[in-house]
Amino acid sequence: MAKASKPSEAPESAAEEASNSSSSPKTPSIEIPQSLSVRQLAALLQVSAVDIIKQLMRTGIMANINQVIDYKAAAAVATATGYEVRPQTVRELASAIGEVKRRQQLQDKQLGGLRPRPPIITIMGHVDHGKTRLLDAIRQTNVMATEAGGITQHIGAYQVEVNGQKVTFLDTPGHEAFTAMRARGAQVTDITVLVVAADDGVMPQTLEARDHAQAAGVPIVVAINKIDKPNANLELVKQQLADAGLLIEEWGGDTVCVLVSAKEKTGITELLENILVVAELEELKANPSQPAVGVVIEAGMNKTKGPLATVLVHTGTLRLGDTVVVGTTWGRVRAMFNDMGKRVRKAEPATPVELLGLNVVPQVGDTLTVVAGERQARALIQERLQEAEQQPSLLLKSVRLDNLFDQISAGKIKELNVILKTDVQGTIEPIRSSLEQLATEEVQVRIIHSGTGNVTESDVMLAAASKGLIIGFGVGSEAGARRLASTGGVDIRHYDVIYNLVDDVGKALKGLLEPSYVEVIVGRAEVRAIFSSGKKTKVAGAYVIEGKVSRGISARVRRQEEVVSESVVNSLRRFKDDVKEVVSGYECGVGIEDFNEFEVGDILEFFRREKAS
Ligand code: GDP
Repeated sequence: MAKASKPSEAPESAAEEASNSSSSPKTPSIEIPQSLSVRQLAALLQVSAVDIIKQLMRTGIMANINQVIDYKAAAAVATATGYEVRPQTVRELASAIGEVKRRQQLQDKQLGGLRPRPPIITIMGHVDHGKTRLLDAIRQTNVMATEAGGITQHIGAYQVEVNGQKVTFLDTPGHEAFTAMRARGAQVTDITVLVVAADDGVMPQTLEARDHAQAAGVPIVVAINKIDKPNANLELVKQQLADAGLLIEEWGGDTVCVLVSAKEKTGITELLENILVVAELEELKANPSQPAVGVVIEAGMNKTKGPLATVLVHTGTLRLGDTVVVGTTWGRVRAMFNDMGKRVRKAEPATPVELLGLNVVPQVGDTLTVVAGERQARALIQERLQEAEQQPSLLLKSVRLDNLFDQISAGKIKELNVILKTDVQGTIEPIRSSLEQLATEEVQVRIIHSGTGNVTESDVMLAAASKGLIIGFGVGSEAGARRLASTGGVDIRHYDVIYNLVDDVGKALKGLLEPSYVEVIVGRAEVRAIFSSGKKTKVAGAYVIEGKVSRGISARVRRQEEVVSESVVNSLRRFKDDVKEVVSGYECGVGIEDFNEFEVGDILEFFRREKAS
């Protein structure tokens, strides 16, 4: 393999001798083979692969980390990095080429039919820092060359092209949507662009977005926006970023940072190029020749067209006529439209398409799977329903303090992820350090997000997505957060005394905490009509929107924010027949004990209580 020449080897020139002398600061020399990969060159020059990719980009070469480049390109980079370059000797060269070939073959074998795919990007940041405007600016300046002139459609995501490579942007900015998706088990985003306004700097939601991205393990590219503003203060923002743990490259860190103005559309191409560089490092690949698997990122009902869903294909290619299972519904792809509203016949990995042909409107975050036909579709739906029955909660199963020890003992968790909300900033650090000190050999305690103020829906989503729990100190929980937590089985603990807080978590880690009961939501139905059954008794004609309903299960009737009754289901019918249970997507007649005051639009929530385990 290529190597920097050692002092022990006979120097070929006086200059090289000088360069090899340890007492001289002169240019070091290096031998480079006729071809080598970007990764190998980075190792050889002892610089990051990102730097190499960037330098190559400047000379018009778009290379990924595994790409093999020739001597000329490699030598240019090495020279720019401050090396004196010599080609490798023939013998070394032969062995180096053999090595590169062997690695390539091995890699091809390991990758199977995998091909690079476009990165999928979510834009996050504090309110009013320009997320929406930046999304628009990117869309306008980089509409795909072949489709210029088309009218962009808002279908939940769009694609742009830079230097012949595609980048997919999710249209819903913000960490709330990002984490809500994750909480449903769908991690769609590959890279986060964190927008920070140059005139406002790092703000609470900037930090929140950072935490959400980091909890998901998604790399961050910082875009400092509004640089056109006269009161923009770039140095201050860079300092604030450093304080937030996002040390930018210019300051010796590894956070990629680009200056942009969404208003004046400057820096957009540079932002896209930097996104591509980070994407290269992520080595995003998918196999386009398989049947498609994707995720729903937007869904709705169109009056004339019926259920519509925008799908991002993960792997495989989605084609017109494919039979698909989406969540617990199925259909046949009747038509597909791209982000320009143009009909398309197929969608490759990371390409957003709006599709027609589903029987029911699916949920955002549902998985789409191509199947052979109706029989396989029904079998898969049955399988998914059974899974849902075993884990009826709508969100991923979270940890609870009560069951923490069992999960640790079973080796299921090695890290207790905590979201800490306090009344004042000053209590965060003492609580954080007390909790972190509770770490045992088996389990670490990690504060994945901290902040002041009440527990929000976004906190609950983050807990659900990260299998964490929430601790509130001297704060309450917003109504929406409480509701979501009860649906998703997320544990929110409130304390006013630090000792009690730390004591409880300590006991939970050792399995000494008393068990408590939790409520598990098994389904929801919407009241669409009201019927009389007998003299005074009323029955709701309801449509099951999630999960299932069964006779005898506890139920509550919700009218907007209010709970108007809590009782049990005492009758359940499909048409004229008494049935034991009805699953989502079907209509039924539901009678609730001691309750007759249904109104159209009421939501029936079915639940059971179980010991937290
Ligand atoms: P979001 O809440 O993060 O989505 O922010 P918006 O995109 O809605 O932008 C908030 C405000 O900042 C709007 O009035 C935008 O026109 C303005 N804005 C966004 N980007 C820029 C920019 O680069 N320069 C200037 N001067 N204003 C901007």
